[in-house]
Amino acid sequence: MKIDPLLLHVQGCVERGTRRLQEASFHVSLNKNGYNHSDLHMSSITQCGRLLWMKLHGKPLAEDFDTRTIRIFDAGHMYEDYVIKLMTFGGAKILSRQQEYREFEIFAGHSDVVIDYEGPAIIDVKTMNQKRAWEFAKADLQEGFLDYFIQVNLYMSYQGTRNGLLLAYNKNTSEITARRVEYNQERIDFYKRKAAWIVAAGTFSEVPDEFSEYKRSQVLAQEDVCCTCPARTTCYGP
Ligand code: SF4
Repeated sequence: MKIDPLLLHVQGCVERGTRRLQEASFHVSLNKNGYNHSDLHMSSITQCGRLLWMKLHGKPLAEDFDTRTIRIFDAGHMYEDYVIKLMTFGGAKILSRQQEYREFEIFAGHSDVVIDYEGPAIIDVKTMNQKRAWEFAKADLQEGFLDYFIQVNLYMSYQGTRNGLLLAYNKNTSEITARRVEYNQERIDFYKRKAAWIVAAGTFSEVPDEFSEYKRSQVLAQEDVCCTCPARTTCYGP
């Protein structure tokens, strides 16, 4: 197997940081800064373009987060802070946290952390249950984790680097798995075009079919994504 120096460096920082922390203490924070509901988020740009347009323009959706879901998100933020502090204790040189990238005024994203490793390297931390973490360890990221793959690719593009990693924290076992995210210019261009269209569209029906599930759903069977979409009634009509 090919050795990836960046991946080894980050894994080493996490391991060293964990050992050093046995003699230290720190506060873990719950950072919710940077999430603006009037932005089109890079972390969700792989979702259906019609749905994203509706979310952006406040169309009524049959979607609300219950308190359990809010706690899951909050736990994710705390694990993110924990893992980044482990890396710092282990020797990672942090260039920025919550670095903002923005284009078309509202297409925005915030990278969890950028470290210096022969130039800037994007590191994004995800929290997963056991099943997802096992899938993450072996999956083709473009297949099973496209949203994360695109998110890191966009950050790499805006940061001007080819170095990007995903770190997955397994909530069941506390294992941390690192995966390199390959730079993919074709995918980056596609999702930037998609963002530009969503921002410019006057209504959701103007979003081209290549960026939404609408046309695909006409030919798919019952299990297609539109069946469970919170915007189905708005999109298809009552
Ligand atoms: S119903 Fe289907 S096409 Fe319409 S917004 Fe939802 S996922 Fe997109």
